[in-house]
Amino acid sequence: MGDVVVETYKVNRRKKGLNLNDIQEINRGLILWLLRRTRVSSRADLSKTSGLKQATITNIINDFISWGIATETGSIEGSKGRRSIGVALNTETHRVMGVRLTRKFFTVGLFDLYGSQESILVEQISPKEAGQVIVGRMIAAIRSVISAASNRLILGIGVAIPGPYVRTERTMTLMTERPGWEGIAIDKEIAFAVGLPVYLEHDAKAGALAEWWLAPERQDHETIAYIAAGQGIGAGIIINGQLIRGALGLAGEIGHVSISFQGHKCACGNRGCLEHYCSTLALSRYAEESIGDYPDSVLAADRSFAAILKAVQEGDELALAITRKAAWFLGFGLVGLVNAYNPHLIVIGDEMSRLGQVFLDGVRQSVEEHVLPSVYRRLRIEISSFDVDPVLVGVSTLAVEQVLYQNNPAKSVEGDANEDDLDM
Ligand SMILES: [Zn+2]
Repeated sequence: MGDVVVETYKVNRRKKGLNLNDIQEINRGLILWLLRRTRVSSRADLSKTSGLKQATITNIINDFISWGIATETGSIEGSKGRRSIGVALNTETHRVMGVRLTRKFFTVGLFDLYGSQESILVEQISPKEAGQVIVGRMIAAIRSVISAASNRLILGIGVAIPGPYVRTERTMTLMTERPGWEGIAIDKEIAFAVGLPVYLEHDAKAGALAEWWLAPERQDHETIAYIAAGQGIGAGIIINGQLIRGALGLAGEIGHVSISFQGHKCACGNRGCLEHYCSTLALSRYAEESIGDYPDSVLAADRSFAAILKAVQEGDELALAITRKAAWFLGFGLVGLVNAYNPHLIVIGDEMSRLGQVFLDGVRQSVEEHVLPSVYRRLRIEISSFDVDPVLVGVSTLAVEQVLYQNNPAKSVEGDANEDDLDM
């Protein structure tokens, strides 16, 4: 997959060139990615797959071993049947953490460098709790996970937050139905409290990173859109391995793209925002509105998302009808994304995806109704295949990647690096 990176630089029209440090960081990122994909690989196979010279691979692996993120595993069989020393990521000593904040709960997970989840802590959030109080609880939860992993070295913490998230200001601009987060620097507060580097990312973009980094079958697709369909709707778009962020980091906020110009007024300033029609909140609202038409529905007693999910699995008529309705709207919204970005693959994750096949069928049907047949034939729409939360895994990978960034002299130290010293 080395050509993915090469391709990106072929098509980019950069205003600034790449110095050796930047190229080195890109190459290291590629090797890290290949090690994650193959789990164990010889230097010769890494060279062959990446297209990089053996000497370059040797230097990169030496760096990884000296930083503690890779180890030698002993003799393995290479691609030509020859035995050679295997290289793998260090799962013995090093860990990363992923933290996810949603409107209803937060989670703290501990992961190894391959993204395997070792522990997870979930805490519910009350709608009345102030943002600052929740950040305090997140810090306490992170500390308890760190102390339980006291014999491990934790490289850093990735924190996924719902959007719209203005990356340049590093705060959430709007959390639907949960005011009071504006101005809270979550990353700084956590970093200060626990003494580890913290990296913030928008939740859907973190999900897209997980799909790209860790789901082996995804990597053959050049353009992937991951849809976080939960209490809000967001998209993370990756083109040729690059996450699309836009000017402020808002790119992919499809939850606030209008599907009805006369629709419900949203707190973002727009009308008829997509998430008003196909989030878990919309689903509960549809149940409320239609319960009179389905007196025998099990949803008469409880119209929470958990109750709707269970009712769908039991074949409840109302639950199925509202699931199809929400799916139709999500599909309608995705048509905009298909026409704007032309993805090869759309992966739907988060709570709504748990509604399963009936939901997926509804989304597919709606997209098919509204795009050109030739476009639909070449488009795949799937539900995320992760058995853990892709957003949490994805955001934890940021902490691994930052090791490369921190070891780029051009970025970790102010001023020009001495490129002559660098051995590519
Ligand atoms: Zn909106």
